[in-house]
Amino acid sequence: MNAPGKILIFICDGLADRPVAELGGRTPLEAATTPTFDRLAAQGENGLFDPIAPGVRAGSDTSHLALLGYDPYEYYTGRGPFEALGVGMDVRPGDVAFRCNFATVEERDGELIVTDRRAGRITEGTAELVAPFDGLELDGVACYLKESTAHRAALVLRGDGLGAGVADVDPHEEGRPVPEAAGETPADEKTAAVVNQFVRLSYEKLKGHAVNEARRQSGEPPANILLPRGAGMAPALPPVTELYNLTAGAVVEVGLIRGIARYCGLEVIPLPPAVNGGLDTDLGAFMEATAAAVAQYDLVLANVKGPDVAGHDGDAAAKVDVLQRIDAASAALFDGLPAGLHLALLGDHATPVAVRDHSGDAVPFVLWGPGARVDDVTTYGERPAATGGAGRLRGQDLLPILLNLAGRAEKFGA
Ligand code: ZN
Ligand code: ZN
Repeated sequence: MNAPGKILIFICDGLADRPVAELGGRTPLEAATTPTFDRLAAQGENGLFDPIAPGVRAGSDTSHLALLGYDPYEYYTGRGPFEALGVGMDVRPGDVAFRCNFATVEERDGELIVTDRRAGRITEGTAELVAPFDGLELDGVACYLKESTAHRAALVLRGDGLGAGVADVDPHEEGRPVPEAAGETPADEKTAAVVNQFVRLSYEKLKGHAVNEARRQSGEPPANILLPRGAGMAPALPPVTELYNLTAGAVVEVGLIRGIARYCGLEVIPLPPAVNGGLDTDLGAFMEATAAAVAQYDLVLANVKGPDVAGHDGDAAAKVDVLQRIDAASAALFDGLPAGLHLALLGDHATPVAVRDHSGDAVPFVLWGPGARVDDVTTYGERPAATGGAGRLRGQDLLPILLNLAGRAEKFGA
């Protein structure tokens, strides 16, 4: 056996798509000019994978758990704990965590009516808005709140006897009243009671907040309530570093996936603010950070968010454009990879522009590095990948395949 080699899992978030009429029936990836990706496809082994299982619409969280080798059906306990970890919060086993939206409500006939579920996609002032919640305790339960990107925040509840079976405080549509959280078991009821107090209190604390006075004056909707959803109990997870006896780092733009990476035992590499998870992110800085991480760690997971953003926007031209820019920016990274490294180039799920959300479509991948069985595929795309030598896999299969190629797999049997 050779000495164990390095592994890079390079993820273009929301990469895969469906044929788009305005692109002449090609997908954005097929339509994009991507010489770097095409070279890797030509030098590698290609295939398609279903992030969870065929037809299952994966979230970024469940797909990343699978790509790191975990069974999401065993370990996934709702987005809340992962979101909270991603923004750097301390989450402990037994805590119940939520994602929250800053939203806008109006009082009408004694009811709070949600008029904007994302408070005008507020981008500034959310750190000030969470400050009045410092040290909050409700019914003997400690409440920790932290802002995330844009209109998002995370809430962690710590106390005895809490349950996570609590419905989302989300009207799903604007023009409806703020719903009440409810739970079935006593533990869930206890959590629901705290959540309902928290929601009402958030309106009291936020409605007259200076940040919101300023927003009203400039004609923007106030971020005057917090709506918690995605309740989850923090799970115990064996770290990849122990499971596979390696060092691991993550270069990740957005909080949710940072949280997953940290939960799975990867060191999260700090990134400059210009690496912001948007379409205008600093791709050069992202690639440099990835190259530095590859030099330092045995296993690196990199996730660049732009393609998912364009997919959610339903903007085919923007998706083509961001893929072309990622391809160009990645050339130096991929040209400079250390000898013997194994690379997986892939998405985490499909975010088709026609769907504007994640779909259950299969995702193309390239396995590149020594020992890969090079096939006849010469371009990176959904349909070329379908003709590749690696066939069709599930997300959870990819890490074992990489560990095997990298000489890191344990023998099963004598
Ligand atoms: Zn994703
Ligand atoms: Zn997405």
